[in-house]
Amino acid sequence: MRLSVGFKIGFWLALLGTFATGLMGFYAYTQSREMLIASSQDKLLTATRVLALRFSHSVNAVASDVRFLSSLSALKQLTANRSDPKLSAIYRKQLEDVMTSVLEAHPEYFQVRLIGAADYGRELVRVDKVENGVIVVPESDLQEKGHFPYFFKTIKLSPGEFYISRINLNKEQGSHAGQGQPTLRIATPVQTADGSIFGVVVVNVDLNSLFSFIRKDIPADINVVLTNQEGDYMVHPVAAKNFGFDKGVRYRIQEDIAELSPMLERDNQDSMVLNTANVVSPASASVAAFVKVPFVSHAEHRFVVIGLLTPLQKVLEESRALGMNIIRITLLFILLALGISFVLARYLSRPLNSMAKAVQRFAAGEPMTGLPVDRNDEIGYLANSFESMASRLSARVDELKSKQQFLGNLAYHDHLTGLPNRLLFLDRLKQTFIKAQRNRTRFAVMFIDLDKFKEINDTHGHAVGDEVLKIAALRMQDCIRHADTLARLAGDEFTILLEDLNSPSDPARIAQKIIAYFEQPFVVEERELFMTCSIGISIYPQDGKDVDTLLSSADAAMYEAKEQGRNDFRFYSDNTAESRQGRS
Ligand code: GH3
Ligand code: MG
Repeated sequence: MRLSVGFKIGFWLALLGTFATGLMGFYAYTQSREMLIASSQDKLLTATRVLALRFSHSVNAVASDVRFLSSLSALKQLTANRSDPKLSAIYRKQLEDVMTSVLEAHPEYFQVRLIGAADYGRELVRVDKVENGVIVVPESDLQEKGHFPYFFKTIKLSPGEFYISRINLNKEQGSHAGQGQPTLRIATPVQTADGSIFGVVVVNVDLNSLFSFIRKDIPADINVVLTNQEGDYMVHPVAAKNFGFDKGVRYRIQEDIAELSPMLERDNQDSMVLNTANVVSPASASVAAFVKVPFVSHAEHRFVVIGLLTPLQKVLEESRALGMNIIRITLLFILLALGISFVLARYLSRPLNSMAKAVQRFAAGEPMTGLPVDRNDEIGYLANSFESMASRLSARVDELKSKQQFLGNLAYHDHLTGLPNRLLFLDRLKQTFIKAQRNRTRFAVMFIDLDKFKEINDTHGHAVGDEVLKIAALRMQDCIRHADTLARLAGDEFTILLEDLNSPSDPARIAQKIIAYFEQPFVVEERELFMTCSIGISIYPQDGKDVDTLLSSADAAMYEAKEQGRNDFRFYSDNTAESRQGRS
């Protein structure tokens, strides 16, 4: 199958367009994907920082409450009057009331206590949250806490300083609602008026309710992770991983995300964003942001790590929509490109086809028509070039034809008189001979030679002689029929072929006519010249059975006429034959 130029150009155009759109689409898609991921990482990091800020504000708020409790006048009175049982009981009651109010006001607090420095850290006042509310623990149930870090580390601090505990599951005896719950303890020392340490105030915070309070604005599909400074999970979507270190199996974030190890181990990095697949489940790729939250703990340096994880799939939903749009645009463009290529193919093929047809017609000898010469583009220019080329070619062909004709004439005609030459005369003679042989008809050959023509040349010049030859030819032509042939054999020798003789006297009549016509003067260059001719006649079949014999018979008869005085004619006869033999 032959494909048109238009189709080919259209095809490549369509291919190029499709490729370019596809490439651009792919580029836009990958770029948008990366941008979306980067922007979602930014947003996530900001959200994590906000969460971290809330967390540390919440811890600071607990610390403020602890400070408030430690500065209560009831507590001061209690320390000042501890030797007076009556007054102690009054101030103790006041302290219990305030502590109860604080616990009731804060759903995230489990327990508020005053622990004395004496008696191995014996609890002096303790208010616990229970299932139905808040209780003041009776004195008989108060315990010694001297071996707990929140006591023996806080007792060493100066007033106004804080101890913030590690977060762990509360396993202390009689901790009521806080039993087994993740707990943060914040404590501060209490001094007597003379500056000696009286004890510590401790608040136990329920991490779960604190955390659900601070994460309340975070959408449900974003996972929240909280670890301690060793990386142990404390809040994780898979509950079994939480506080593994308190249950004998450690689940640490750096085992899931190795990239987080430097942040946990060094101080100089406080946040990190990354793409991970390992935190929630290996199958769910996530975009994640982690922020370190340091606490102002005067006893020891402490921090936790908060992380937010959003499924990558959700982040890329927008880019998928964009991808679909790009595919749609690409498909649309392919259709458009195909349409354009179809139109272009027609636009280009039609004029080219019409040009091809015009050229084919021209090659077949017809005129070159139907070219799109009116167009103003390259095709129109080409068509015009074709047209002018065709007209030039036609002109050259016509010229060649006429030259050919001229050359043909030259080969068969005498250039001076325009009469058939010897070649053409002999050809016609042969044709006539064949016809006459077949049809048993007769014809005559006349041989005419001008008399003493040389003298004209010698006297008046060759040019005048030529003019005389031309006049002689015209006169002889006037004396014969159209069907008869007059030829110039050579010099001043002419022949006439008279076909289909109606009567035997026809040649004689014509000969007489010629001789008579010659009697008129030949006017050349205003000079009157006189010329005669001698004519010999042979008749087929009696004077020759072939062409050469017939011609030489006529020639012989002409010589006879010359010999007998010129300006006359003779038929070939036996005498002629004899006199010829005599001459030779
Ligand atoms: P005759 O009566 O015996 O025929 O005498 P003539 O002078 O005619 O002698 P002949 O026929 O033998 O000579 C013909 C002359 O015609 C010879 C030549 O010089 C002259 N001739 C031949 N061809 C041309 C021609 O083309 N132009 C002219 N002007 N003269 C020619
Ligand atoms: Mg002559």
